[in-house]
Amino acid sequence: MNRILVTEKIAAEGLDVLKGAGEVDVRLDLDKAGLLAAIGAYDALVVRSATKVTADVIAAGTQLRVIGRAGTGVDNIDVPAATARGIIVVNAPASNNVAVTELTIGLLVALARSIPQAHASLQSGKWERTKFMGWEVRGKTLGLIGLGRIGSEVAVRARAMEMTVLAYDPVVSLDRAEQIGVELVAMDELLSRSDVVSLHIPLLEGTRNLFDATMIAKMKRGAHIINASRGGIVDEDALLAALESGQLAGAALDVFSSEPPPAEAEILRHPKIITVPHIGASTAEAQVSAGSEVAEGVATALTGATPRYAVNAPFVAPEAWGVLQPYLTLGRQMGRLVCQMITAPVRGYDLEFCGELTDLDTQPIKLAVLEGLLEANSSMRVTPVNAPLIARERGVRLTERTNPHAENYGGLLVLRVQTGEGEHVFAGAVLRGEPHIVQVDGYFVDFIPQGPLLFTYHRDRPGMIGRVGMLLGGADVNISGMHVGRLAPREHAMMVLTLDEPASAAVLAQVEQEEDIERAIGVVL
Ligand code: NAD
Repeated sequence: MNRILVTEKIAAEGLDVLKGAGEVDVRLDLDKAGLLAAIGAYDALVVRSATKVTADVIAAGTQLRVIGRAGTGVDNIDVPAATARGIIVVNAPASNNVAVTELTIGLLVALARSIPQAHASLQSGKWERTKFMGWEVRGKTLGLIGLGRIGSEVAVRARAMEMTVLAYDPVVSLDRAEQIGVELVAMDELLSRSDVVSLHIPLLEGTRNLFDATMIAKMKRGAHIINASRGGIVDEDALLAALESGQLAGAALDVFSSEPPPAEAEILRHPKIITVPHIGASTAEAQVSAGSEVAEGVATALTGATPRYAVNAPFVAPEAWGVLQPYLTLGRQMGRLVCQMITAPVRGYDLEFCGELTDLDTQPIKLAVLEGLLEANSSMRVTPVNAPLIARERGVRLTERTNPHAENYGGLLVLRVQTGEGEHVFAGAVLRGEPHIVQVDGYFVDFIPQGPLLFTYHRDRPGMIGRVGMLLGGADVNISGMHVGRLAPREHAMMVLTLDEPASAAVLAQVEQEEDIERAIGVVL
């Protein structure tokens, strides 16, 4: 039974998902020492932002397989320490997209109509109808810096308000921008054309103080700026100076270079700045969805599968996920199969992605194969997260290639293993959403790679299947499925039996002693 420790309050919907995956302990009282003492008994840890999951906590979590963060940022988790130990770190990056987007739209309209200032004026007993002459957002140009999850959602809503939307994002494709009705332009063009610039980018070394005096000077005179991304991207002194000089007409900030900002900070008092205390993600719906999203990631990781949002595993685009997931299982199971069937020393592996696989990001599949190949022989827990590190340490060579042709399959994954004795070839495909092995060493077979299996390399002779069946029956091993592939009648053949229980070494030895059987191999996947 998996044990899951939750150290901060997460939504009930998330807890329900976790309860389906194991025994859940919610301990909101743990300090650092308490966490260090408790963590060794748990397979999963779920936190929000207050619990500091440092390297010593991770080292003490000897059973830990997954750390979940109910939210986006993982600054409170030592991700490299988790990665080195093969612990998957999952978060909930999509959970607050809509919350931040709607706040951004709220700030946009608040800037246009000076809503907070008008509210404060009325509350102070004044009635200043002419002072608060606003402007309409319709027909204005919004420039988005960053067209990721949140930037795209803002774009869709701004288009609905009849704005022209420009974006600068060095990664996003023209096709994607076109799809949502956004014109992708260079940064300088965006700055010179936009009436309002809204930031939706991460805080990185390259984006720290990105909006400094030089950048602000490139903006249209009298433009507005909104920052609901991360504090530190806008240089606050430069912003204040630009508002004073009239270069900018207004700004709206949800985030600050230091949070909370000092109470006396000018940025909080300036009449042209609307401020809110980092409430972008603070909606009831975002909290529920952060809890459920992270719980689903944790539950998936505990089953051994790759979760959708793993911080320390390659990102998979949502639209590719459905197609990719069965290939991840196929890759991992193929790696495990190869590892158990090939006993000769291996020189290297070659992975070929055929057919529809050539259109996918194949990196996650490669990691799944590596995980399957390495896990049985590693003292450390191997996951897609640390598989490349372990492979590098062991000098495992894995080359990759693509091939547009996939025989009669939509996609085919081919793993070739070069040993001192020659090459072994395994091929698998996804049929009706399930992974199948369709070729082993030139024999066409078809089985689902899971559970106990028995392989025989033999001569195709009448009665062969019956003899093996009798031996297994005599040992009380039940056969659930059988597949035979042969090169030609009465020539070399392979039998694959799927079993309900594994065949013992003694039974395997008996099978191997049968006439015309060259080898019998037991595998448990
Ligand atoms: P995302 O990763 O989906 O998108 C970020 C986009 O920015 C990517 O497409 C990337 O290519 C682009 N980008 C990176 N550097 C860039 C640069 N120098 N110039 C232009 N584009 C660049 O992220 P997201 O989920 O959309 O989040 C956007 C921001 O919002 C992040 O900083 C995130 O931390 C922040 N956020 C804030 C709150 C809040 O409470 N205010 C809540 C959640 C997220």
